[in-house]
Amino acid sequence: MKAAPSLLAAVLLLAAPARSYVLWGTSLGPRNHPFYIDATFPIVCSGTVQDQVGAMLLATQEWGKSGGADFRYMFMGLATYPYPPGASVLVMGTSCVGYPMATGYFATCMFGNIPFDASGSPPLGTFDLQGSSVHQMGHALGLGHTNVPGCSMFTQSIDALDFRTIEADDIAGIQAIYGPVPAGTPVLDYLGLPFTGETIELRLGNTVGPALVLLDPAPGPTVVPGIGTLEVGGSPALIYLPYFAPQSMPIPLPSNPALIGTNWYMHALVLNGTSVALSNPFHLAIPY
Ligand SMILES: [Zn+2]
Repeated sequence: MKAAPSLLAAVLLLAAPARSYVLWGTSLGPRNHPFYIDATFPIVCSGTVQDQVGAMLLATQEWGKSGGADFRYMFMGLATYPYPPGASVLVMGTSCVGYPMATGYFATCMFGNIPFDASGSPPLGTFDLQGSSVHQMGHALGLGHTNVPGCSMFTQSIDALDFRTIEADDIAGIQAIYGPVPAGTPVLDYLGLPFTGETIELRLGNTVGPALVLLDPAPGPTVVPGIGTLEVGGSPALIYLPYFAPQSMPIPLPSNPALIGTNWYMHALVLNGTSVALSNPFHLAIPY
């Protein structure tokens, strides 16, 4: 009879092992982390280069979309070596070996000789590029491997398709590094592929009320007395979008070649009763 309680305790310990996210002790700085993609490195992957870049963009967005943390990746466009000083660059390639790896560079690596797939239905023996990129971008933002199966930061997967969506333990991990989104702070970003002919989903969340989203090809700062500094320049191409937070707004990007390579600076003004709150500045780069 005396042995029963300790046996029960041992069983409970076994049933609840210390399984959790792992922090690497690094982070990428606050809120919106700008990054570029270098698509010039060779990669063994199905699909076009647009498919591959698209898979990586959707992967970076998953952390901001589902993480609930005060952090999101902000795509700044394509880059080729030599990179802008201090820039974070997602290198699209089949191996990290021999690449110009340094602080601030990420890489999506091929595991062994297993090629990537960008179709969304990875054939046996391939890894889903989007899921693999979610995992790698989790490392880049400061997470190590978790022991919780099914998570994006788990060590193993058949095809990495299950890595596409982050899970509770991944979310706890990113929030442990960057903290949850502060209450009442308007958060501006978008979901989807910023390609010409595509429709992205503009999001102004964590707030309620009428708002104005500004997009401008010229960077700020523009000082608005009594409100703050807008990271839009106020050029003739400035676009104002009336908005009611927190609805998401579809933005069709015209199939216009002149838009390829353009960069748009985004900011939102939210009416809070009688005062105006500024969102975070965000960025829309159109690579294709
Ligand atoms: Zn890993």
